[in-house]
Amino acid sequence: MSSKTRDGFTVGEHTIDAGTRKTVDLPVSVLSDHTPVTLSVHVVHGKRPGPVLFVSAAVHGDEVIGAEIVRRLLRTPALRSIRGTLLAIPIVNAFGLMNHSRYLPDRRDLNRSFPGSPKGSLASRLAHLFLTEIVERSDLGIDLHSAAVHRTNLPQVRVTPDRPEVMELAHVFGAPLTLTSKIRPGSLRDAADKKGVNILLYEAGEGLRFDEFAVRAGVSGILRIMRHLDMIPGIATPKRKLPTIVSRSSSWLRAPAGGLLRSHKNIGEAVTEGDILGTISDPFGEEETPVVAEFSGLMIGRTHLPIVNEGDGLFHVARIGSDIPAEKRIDGLTSELEDDVLLDEDEII
Ligand SMILES: [Zn+2]
Repeated sequence: MSSKTRDGFTVGEHTIDAGTRKTVDLPVSVLSDHTPVTLSVHVVHGKRPGPVLFVSAAVHGDEVIGAEIVRRLLRTPALRSIRGTLLAIPIVNAFGLMNHSRYLPDRRDLNRSFPGSPKGSLASRLAHLFLTEIVERSDLGIDLHSAAVHRTNLPQVRVTPDRPEVMELAHVFGAPLTLTSKIRPGSLRDAADKKGVNILLYEAGEGLRFDEFAVRAGVSGILRIMRHLDMIPGIATPKRKLPTIVSRSSSWLRAPAGGLLRSHKNIGEAVTEGDILGTISDPFGEEETPVVAEFSGLMIGRTHLPIVNEGDGLFHVARIGSDIPAEKRIDGLTSELEDDVLLDEDEII
């Protein structure tokens, strides 16, 4: 065995020695009141070589669930013997997080501002910093999101269509659902793709809320990926008894009328064409409009807000072609997550 130690890992002006971990702050800008804003990255640089994985959260500032997933990930004892390097960024958009907002103060969406430029808008500068300091140093990224405020998502991984290697990783992650979705121009996934870095996009839970099931499914999925890449110890990636449900298309069912919505179905429940998923009524109960499912599938997202305008997205339904009833699979996965060997509660919660 060579006695030579592995090189340190450099990010910004900082170098992290092999076998150590450290939080580094990359300067972004200074607020109008003189408060510095940073992109803070926790680097776990293993003694032994291996892949570089980044895990990012709160690219949309109000999608806080990923920050809790990253916090628990960083407490995982298995990281003590990591191969390769983990870059964990619990809050990419600090501006949005503090303002409980998806956006930056310049009202731009960071996830539409990639690849960005050092001379561009604030969003564009932050995108450029993230791309050059994090994405370009990585082999793979997991980007954590939630639904928007007042909406919730069944934990799901979104992957680019026609990428067998990414689909394989989505199976390893083992979220209840895997949805293929086209790359949006200007997104992190778009920019990373052009640099040859694959991204798994995890979408789970509600904006501005923590949700235990969504957090556990996220932590467990990341640890499965790290095991699969041989970054953390383990005999093999434990297979889920029930595999992820794959869907290639989904649609939002929109409000046929304005009014007050009563929902009759929840995320993770099967939907049959013709089912009444909710009822919209006027405040006097004189007029009732049913919201009818237009096709069969699985409910993967819904609004939590009973106040609706005509055209609002109410229920997000994925088309699935599956022989095992989807609802049963979701129930099975929920109980599997409850006694997941990867999630040692005393250690990481
Ligand atoms: Zn998002």
